[in-house]
Amino acid sequence: MLIVMKPGAAAQETDAVVNLIQEIGLRPHPMPGATRTAIGITGNQGPVDCRRFENLPGVAEVIRVTKPYKLITLDLRPEKTVVRVGNAAIGGNELAIIAGPCAIESHDQAFAVAEAVQKSGARFFRGGVWKPRTSPYAFQGLGEKGWEIITEIRKAFRLNIVTEALEEPHVDLIEQYGDVIQIGARNMQNFALLRRAGRSQLPVLLKRGMAATLEEWLLAAEYIMAEGNYNVILCERGVRTFSQHTRNTLDLASVPAIRRISHLPVIVDPSHGTGSAYMVTPLARAGVAVGADGLMVEVHDRPELALSDGAQALTPSEYAQLIREVRAIREVTTPIANESRIETKVA
Ligand code: PEP
Ligand code: MN
Repeated sequence: MLIVMKPGAAAQETDAVVNLIQEIGLRPHPMPGATRTAIGITGNQGPVDCRRFENLPGVAEVIRVTKPYKLITLDLRPEKTVVRVGNAAIGGNELAIIAGPCAIESHDQAFAVAEAVQKSGARFFRGGVWKPRTSPYAFQGLGEKGWEIITEIRKAFRLNIVTEALEEPHVDLIEQYGDVIQIGARNMQNFALLRRAGRSQLPVLLKRGMAATLEEWLLAAEYIMAEGNYNVILCERGVRTFSQHTRNTLDLASVPAIRRISHLPVIVDPSHGTGSAYMVTPLARAGVAVGADGLMVEVHDRPELALSDGAQALTPSEYAQLIREVRAIREVTTPIANESRIETKVA
């Protein structure tokens, strides 16, 4: 259920609704918007009696949500969410660029890539400290040593650090040394990890599972939000299909599809979405053209020596050219507005 306050409702009126929700043992999620505040309710197993809220001062309407999700929807928040991270934002007017190597491999590699990333004007540096690898014998990331390097990069280049948490204790470390918690495709339905990230103050970048439907992906975001963390960024990174010419099939239609349902920002990862460096720039252009709020791109100073995902890594000069091109596309792309919202059925 969702309670929409009148545009001029007083703060005390909103507080009174929030308190009542708590008193009946449920969890309120107030979302202030440009014109009105809406309050989502979670924690109920069955339907909540709408009528107890209907006559409270300041309440405009009480809506029974019939979709499987409650908090990610435009019904709760008609304006797009802008996730703010330090000096940067994802979901605002500026195209957000998150770039860096697949994994932190050494001080020299990470610094060379960070320099290229900073030079391009990007505000986010990515790099795995722990890597989720298909084979237990493949490079698993530098672990603690990787943290030392990434901490130095954060300081030296003033870039916001995006790195993946493979398990719950990793979230504690990212909270100390990083800026954005990445949850990878393989962990999109690791519900304990989603809940832990939902209790964090840091934004969460949630990648689409490689076999996840749009609904499953959005419900994973809902897990994070239900714990009180509303700063979620969705990342389309492709799904597995019968196509053999790419590592994954980058489902760019998910970008406008999400826009119709959700206020959350969505970015595109053309690196994992294709698996081949020569396809990364064309798909990055397409991602920006379909209205993505940003891109995640893998870059390596020596792709031929990379310990993971070298085939899809761009060199610094290829990356710089990509950035010039996508910025030009962004200039002429009208962001897809959220006006095409789907109405929630009212019971
Ligand atoms: C990554 O970003 O390096 C990664 C492992 O991505 P994904 O979870 O999308 O496979
Ligand atoms: Mn990778």
